Amino acid sequence: MIAVNIFGNNIRTLNLFAGIIFAAFATFPLTTSAMADTGIPAKQLFGNKTLPAAMKPKVHGYYTKGCLSGAKAVPVDGPNWQTMRLSRNRRWGHPDLVRIIEDLSIDAASAGWNGLLVGDMSQPRGGPMLSGHFSHQVGLDADIWFTPMPDKRMTYKERETISAVSVLIPGSFYVDDQRWTSAHTNLLKFAAKYPEVERILVHPGIKKKLCDTIKGDRGWLRKIRPVKRGHHYHFHLRIGCPPGSPGCKSQNATPRSIGCDKTLAWWFKSGLIKKKKKKPAKKKKAAKPRYTKLGDLPGACEAVLNAPSSNLDVATHKIRTANFTAPNINIPAFNARRVLNSKPIEAKETLKRSASGGGTTADIPIPTKRPKS
Ligand SMILES: [Zn+2]
Repeated sequence: MIAVNIFGNNIRTLNLFAGIIFAAFATFPLTTSAMADTGIPAKQLFGNKTLPAAMKPKVHGYYTKGCLSGAKAVPVDGPNWQTMRLSRNRRWGHPDLVRIIEDLSIDAASAGWNGLLVGDMSQPRGGPMLSGHFSHQVGLDADIWFTPMPDKRMTYKERETISAVSVLIPGSFYVDDQRWTSAHTNLLKFAAKYPEVERILVHPGIKKKLCDTIKGDRGWLRKIRPVKRGHHYHFHLRIGCPPGSPGCKSQNATPRSIGCDKTLAWWFKSGLIKKKKKKPAKKKKAAKPRYTKLGDLPGACEAVLNAPSSNLDVATHKIRTANFTAPNINIPAFNARRVLNSKPIEAKETLKRSASGGGTTADIPIPTKRPKS
């Protein structure tokens, strides 16, 4: 659910180092059970797979700890979408998720949204990612930009470099009415209406905007869940466990309330406010980073990792619209280093956030302790 990319130097060095180890194992393949014990971070094993496992579509595990087989790719271009940051090779998901993205692109277009810019989904076999994101591991999560698709078809380079635009007033926690349109609202409403969609994660400022402005049918706001980081450039669409995946672990249902109450107000009083760091008494030795290993994932993920690959054409979703011709885009061969150097989607905002959050004030009662929702 975290959309920011964390490219700490230490992590990068570790990744490259582990990449070298990985290359060594690729030359001298070990038995699968030995691989689980090598100590190689699972993100290296899954992050270097370029194609899905040629098996039935099945989800194993949970959004933050799992994998999937039989994934489908969202085509690079569709009549109402363009996929972004192609170097990351993350346009993969469970076929149900891919279908929903196509549905959403058509429904949202009918309500004034020019088309979807599809951001990160999952790696071809899911699993922990080479960079960013705790979730997105089982092919049931997709990030969709709050920036509508431009009229032109973008080049590979443009898809790597163009930034998403925040919908907040710079330096505040509140939505900028110059940036937020009824098409944004419709986009979220359509997404929330699909029964398969369980959650849509957005910045609390966006949830507040919807709570303050939606009249009449408000039931769908239940699925719009406020989360802290990043989600004002994009929203995160999450579907539930699909049929035929007994190994898929469901997330708790969202609360019955639509959440336009003190649970939302809490964010503006406390949840979004940066806390002052206490001075540490003594400098502690930096703890060794603990990466998820293959053995930490559901047992079925080992077979998913080692299964033969699908063919890219076969594994790419077939677009419903018959007369669409996709532009010719040359995607360079997958390179893990390129993924680690990939540009975050967020555009830099120039104004600094004030301690109070700036912008307009929340007109809802404000508790200090986080209320149970
Ligand atoms: Zn996400």
